[in-house]
Amino acid sequence: MTTGTPSPQQIDTSKAHPARVYDWLLGGKDNYPVDEAVAEKLPAEARDAARQNREFMHRAAAWLAGEGIDQFLDIGTGIPTEPNLHQIVQRLAPTAKVVYTDNDPIVLRHAEALLVSRPEGATDYIQADVRKPREILEHARGVLDFGRPIALSLIALMHFIPDDQDPYGIVSDLLAALPPGSHLVLSHAASDLYPELAEQVTAEYAKGGIRLGFRTRPEVDRFFDGLDLVDPGLVTAPEWFKSTPSPSPEGSGIYAGVARVR
Ligand code: SAH
Repeated sequence: MTTGTPSPQQIDTSKAHPARVYDWLLGGKDNYPVDEAVAEKLPAEARDAARQNREFMHRAAAWLAGEGIDQFLDIGTGIPTEPNLHQIVQRLAPTAKVVYTDNDPIVLRHAEALLVSRPEGATDYIQADVRKPREILEHARGVLDFGRPIALSLIALMHFIPDDQDPYGIVSDLLAALPPGSHLVLSHAASDLYPELAEQVTAEYAKGGIRLGFRTRPEVDRFFDGLDLVDPGLVTAPEWFKSTPSPSPEGSGIYAGVARVR
């Protein structure tokens, strides 16, 4: 199910969009010259960060499915990039259900790729803004069973919500709806790991009209308040739970963590 197919006019190609800049960074083709203009000025590390972030999503989704989680609410999904979250979890749990959400009409345009669920499971897409958590929850209740654990994934999303837009209130409203045993999966660009690069990235996005709110470690940690972080805790994306640790650890400007709801 989707909320409708956007007409081509709804895809605004006069202004850069986060989903399309990220697509460019991952080497995708679903972006426009305005997005490329922002993305190509970013330091080379931004491409590494996008890849590390996506790889974290792969590992975290598989880990959760391995823990028996079979319901996912993924907000800030992005343009489909294989493997998508449902493909990872349905390999392990074919009956898993995934509700995807993004506020960018280009993601809705490509939503068919997200809706090819295994027949035993289900996937669903809603175009919605994380700043309206109640709207998202109301929709998700039609698909997921809120009496059983759900994984809420906010992967590389909350740094698009600056402090004046109530990021912590949004996350706690979403978490308040989830039963014990649910999980929060979150990754977030750091302002304190490579401060000069973070400032440069923020300035380039701002030139493209996109506001960013990169955060320090304690600020990212605050999203997990009241939850139990699972091993290895809040770490950089490449450090999160690799079955085979890398022989030469990679630097990263992305924090990542998974935590359990009490
Ligand atoms: N979660 C994916 C994509 C991250 S890119 C991954 O980690 O691979 C960030 C995504 O968040 C983009 O697709 C962008 O459109 C979306 N986004 C940004 N602000 C948003 C908002 N206010 N509400 C919902 N989605 C948003």
